[in-house]
Amino acid sequence: MKSTRDIASASPLRANRSLASRLALPLVLLGLIALGLGAGCTRREVTTESQRHPIERVVLISIDTLRADFVGCYDDSVTWTPSLDALAAESVVFTDAMAQAPTTTPSHKSILYSVYPHVHQTFAWSVPEESIESPIEALRQQGLRTAAFVGGGQLGRNHGFRRGFDDFWQNEHGGDRAEKRHIVPLEAAATAWLDEHHAKPFFLFLHTYQTHCPYVPPEPYREAHTAWYAGALDARDSCGKDFESRDLDEPDTRYVRSLYAAEVAYVDAYIGRLVARLKELGIYDETMIVFLSDHGEALGEGDRYGHGRFSEWELRVPLIAKIPGVEPRRIDAPVELLDVMPTVYSAVDAEPPFTFQGHDLFPAMGEPATVDRDRVRVAEKRAFAAIRRGPWRLVHHLNGGTKHSGLFHVEADPDGLDDRSADHPDIVEALLDEYTAVREKSAPLATQFVLDGDDRPMLDETTRHQLEVLGYIR
Ligand SMILES: [Zn+2]
Repeated sequence: MKSTRDIASASPLRANRSLASRLALPLVLLGLIALGLGAGCTRREVTTESQRHPIERVVLISIDTLRADFVGCYDDSVTWTPSLDALAAESVVFTDAMAQAPTTTPSHKSILYSVYPHVHQTFAWSVPEESIESPIEALRQQGLRTAAFVGGGQLGRNHGFRRGFDDFWQNEHGGDRAEKRHIVPLEAAATAWLDEHHAKPFFLFLHTYQTHCPYVPPEPYREAHTAWYAGALDARDSCGKDFESRDLDEPDTRYVRSLYAAEVAYVDAYIGRLVARLKELGIYDETMIVFLSDHGEALGEGDRYGHGRFSEWELRVPLIAKIPGVEPRRIDAPVELLDVMPTVYSAVDAEPPFTFQGHDLFPAMGEPATVDRDRVRVAEKRAFAAIRRGPWRLVHHLNGGTKHSGLFHVEADPDGLDDRSADHPDIVEALLDEYTAVREKSAPLATQFVLDGDDRPMLDETTRHQLEVLGYIR
């Protein structure tokens, strides 16, 4: 791969703030509650080594459309993710992580920029002009070589995700409906890059649509998960609404879920190979690995399939972080994908830009841990916002409409079908006030992303075909 800069000439990583000092942050805010460690976890002081050096290698893995409860460390009944579970056993597992959008483009933009969708305004069919420096660019200036290997489609050059990366690769294969193998070219390209660049600091972003519809897992995963099915459903060309328009019976639904599980198992095997490669290269122990998904997927709950709405299945995502010097544990405090980049910045000792709206998660991993259990979280689409606090989620139509809006209890009603707003007008009002406050705080950032109404992504033929395969264009 052609290099666009000489990493050896870059300024060295700054070490002006120690990791230990951030981990030892005192309780400073009202409402912060000390967090207990999960059973079986042992406390350990941050190592002397990590006090001296910020982290120099970061791998951020986004598995598109992977709902949390299809990963073993989030659900004991899952048996098909041994590699991810092994990684999780060495990581901090955030059990209540929420995406900022139920779709790919805005969610990933929020992950990489740590701003809400109403700020970045980057959606599937709109890509604004940005005056802000890409947070990836700042990592590059910090001395990390920045590289991205992504699935293309809604997450590629056409949607502005090229910015700040020294090396950028996107899947140019349109996809094959007969058997999906997005992992194969990703793995080849990313492994070659790692082999060449592992010796120096880097930020590596990996993304795949392998678990996105249509669910056409390769063998032997398909056979292993679906051999029991005797029905007639052909799912190879299907995405969310295609399933909803058919009259699926219980075995059909279970079949769809099994196909999806097979895709997850196939991805899990790749994670195993990636971890093995990092170990072979001798950098696994010192590498921070963040594993997440941009959103989940409805798989028959409430007769819904796919993603794009605000059910718990679509917004709750896995978030797993293996961080050198940080003891594995489970943290059940509410966090958001907005928090990922501030935490990465903290780990590599980069100064966060004023634009970051997420939280550095190191205090939540510290001793004593500081978390805000009453935290307000927000997910958005163009015309809707979902405001979450505690067990309640308010889905609010920004243009005053009522369709799809309502107040939902996410524990009693994860599908989001039972509107309780008439019973709890006080909660509705409080959550709307919270959202108004979030928008007011965002106001100074609005000028950083300018949408003039005609900022549509240019689609080349490959991207158009990918979007067809992924169900975005019919
Ligand atoms: Zn996605």
